[in-house]
Amino acid sequence: MSKAPAARRIGILGGTFDPVHIGHLRSALEVAEFMRLDELRLLPNARPPHRDTPQVAAHDRLAMVRSAVQGVERLSVDARELARDKPSYTIDTLESVRAELHADDQLFLVLGWDAFCGLPSWHRWDELLQHCHILVLQRPDADVEPPDELRNLLAARSVSDPTAMSGPAGHISFVWQTPLAVSATQIRQLLASGRSVRFLVPDAVLAYIEAHELYRVPN
Ligand code: ATP
Repeated sequence: MSKAPAARRIGILGGTFDPVHIGHLRSALEVAEFMRLDELRLLPNARPPHRDTPQVAAHDRLAMVRSAVQGVERLSVDARELARDKPSYTIDTLESVRAELHADDQLFLVLGWDAFCGLPSWHRWDELLQHCHILVLQRPDADVEPPDELRNLLAARSVSDPTAMSGPAGHISFVWQTPLAVSATQIRQLLASGRSVRFLVPDAVLAYIEAHELYRVPN
């Protein structure tokens, strides 16, 4: 009888990535290494059409994320939300990813603290932990008081050592990380005012932005 394959450890980091920058990438790589993930997927979110600046289409955001992680061990791109014609709920994305994995594979949804605190407003949020673990990126200077609605969940599901989260899904843990002071908003503003974003994005992303003349006008 053949031996069952070892359970894989897969992470998902969603974002608009408009554009992807070194803050995202450095944070993703640190999490992937610290958690010993086999793969951390950067998953660009679809946005409502009225919020898309006309010059940056979803396919440009996707192309930039792809070029940023090309050749980077452990980091990959998951384009499933952009393949749909409307924004997806996270629960739908998790169900879709989970359907492609082995039952024993561990799935980690990586969220910033702010996103985590907003969880109770998400569609079918109480089902998320059936499909994944939640890994909250916490910054050392952040407020650590969760909203009341999350207190019971944390009491029941949180584990202190994130690397010890066992099973395919169901736990919450925290990783402390000092983020680089870079944001996509800052990058868009620099480009709109004709300034360089060199060293804030990977060279391949910079080349893409220049070749396609992206973010030239204020948004
Ligand atoms: P914007 O400035 O347009 O709001 P952003 O730079 O915050 O964008 P997002 O695409 O919204 O980027 O972020 C995707 C994910 O990456 C979020 O979970 C966010 O918390 C995280 N993130 C954003 N900037 C950084 C950073 N500098 N370091 C670590 N994580 C970051």
